[in-house]
Amino acid sequence: MSEKPRVSLAPVRLEYRASAGRGLSRSLAALMEGRIVGQRCPVCAKVYVPSRGACPSCGVVLSEDVVVSETGTLVSFCVVNIPLADRSLPLPYVHGSVLLDGADIPFSHLLQGLPVEEVRMGLRVRAEWVPGPERKPSLESIRCFRPTGEPDAPFHAYMEHL
Ligand SMILES: [Zn+2]
Repeated sequence: MSEKPRVSLAPVRLEYRASAGRGLSRSLAALMEGRIVGQRCPVCAKVYVPSRGACPSCGVVLSEDVVVSETGTLVSFCVVNIPLADRSLPLPYVHGSVLLDGADIPFSHLLQGLPVEEVRMGLRVRAEWVPGPERKPSLESIRCFRPTGEPDAPFHAYMEHL
């Protein structure tokens, strides 16, 4: 019963092209201007950031652009202890799901400015933008999220968005 665990290490790389579509294209362009834009579903009123083009719950096209806040709440996170090829961050670091104020769906981004032992659900965070000339039509225009110093959001404020 003392069989050794079997481990296979293999580099994996995927390359693909995706068309952004109209809504996501507007969201990406807004990031270059330092604004975060999502889209609201005309049926359930959920705001998707970044835009997805259609509401996966209602199956309808999203057409109303909504500017959301650059502040939000950390609703979940993971501590990364494995170096990644495209990140030169000291380990460990935190990647988390941020629910922006005015949005209904969290998205994943880097969290900085706090020891990993102090990171917690409900932490209030703000986007830190890269300088304007360096921005791209990408979420990489946001360098990271950092704590705002506000009191943590209570669990009931974000529990339906996990
Ligand atoms: Zn909907």
